[in-house]
Amino acid sequence: MNNLIDSFGRQITYLRLSVTDRCDLRCSYCMAEKMTFLPRKDLLTLEELDTLASQFIARGVRKIRITGGEPLVRRDIMHLIERLGRHLKGQGGKSGALDELTVTTNGTQLAKHAADLRRFGVERINVSLDTLDRALFKTLTRRDAIDSVMEGLDAAQAAGLRVKINTVALQNNAAEIPDMMRWAHGRDMDMTLIEVMPLGEINGDRVDQYIPLSDVRDNLEGQFTLLEAAKKTGGPARYVTAQETGGTLGFITPLTNNFCAGCNRVRVTCTGQIYACLGDDGMLDLRGALRGENAEEELNKLLDQTMRTKPEKHSFDISKRGAKPSVTRHMSVTGG
Ligand code: SAM
Ligand code: SF4
Repeated sequence: MNNLIDSFGRQITYLRLSVTDRCDLRCSYCMAEKMTFLPRKDLLTLEELDTLASQFIARGVRKIRITGGEPLVRRDIMHLIERLGRHLKGQGGKSGALDELTVTTNGTQLAKHAADLRRFGVERINVSLDTLDRALFKTLTRRDAIDSVMEGLDAAQAAGLRVKINTVALQNNAAEIPDMMRWAHGRDMDMTLIEVMPLGEINGDRVDQYIPLSDVRDNLEGQFTLLEAAKKTGGPARYVTAQETGGTLGFITPLTNNFCAGCNRVRVTCTGQIYACLGDDGMLDLRGALRGENAEEELNKLLDQTMRTKPEKHSFDISKRGAKPSVTRHMSVTGG
């Protein structure tokens, strides 16, 4: 079967699969305080998610990231992880068609699931954490849950999972970022900084949240020697090594530096909509095909169509106060 190659010659080898739009936190840059979530009946079942993922693998996808909302709040999510694990390399009839199965999580439920994630073949996970300060965590996430995240991190590392900390740079956590990096590298965790993106209506204005990573980097360079790292992932991050800590720091700069030329990914929501670009409202519905007759053939047609319509690049803009979000859906719909 043909690989997935878009009209700009980019091969799609990476699927980010959202398994729920729900979450046990309400990060202020991601969600509004009051959110209306999708009715459960609209969600793809775990079996459907598995079928869909297998179809992507048959078309050359080599890496799958399970995301959300918060993926670990979806009931029985470990069944899906176990099923997808069969595509990884390894003993016991595993196919090796997939190089990596991974998860992005806020960490609150990790203590419960870390050992199983590792057992089912997950080697590395991303944990999103924007502050180490209890009060600021509560302000940013609207929940007092930092202890469960810390327990989750301990459990993940004890289970042998490599952890990368993802931190969205915001005006109210920017001063803490050097200390967070010291902390993360001190625990042998890599860290990636992300610029806040204008996705979905939130309470408040993004102009009051946004800080360019160039400012954050200037501040870090006052305290650390940052050496350009050789590491390349095909993803949007640019990496440096901090000489003083020996750890790796990534920068994802959708606002200040367009990174679309090397894009290798598509995103599928928990209801089966495929978005070829995080910064574009264009999507196709895979659920109908998945539930109809000739599912495989119909899915393949839609994947081909997605390749023809994937935009060359996004056009995020946070410069204007009071502006509508560039994209109307929240990050929790398409996953990070
Ligand atoms: N709930 C999980 C978590 O927080 O890791 C997975 C889903 S969350 C939508 C994925 C990532 O998107 C997180 O690292 C989060 O910080 C980031 N994110 C959410 N909204 C964002 C926004 N508007 N701009 C930039 N990053 C955002
Ligand atoms: Fe939930 Fe993740 Fe969005 Fe925070 S960033 S509200 S943890 S989905």
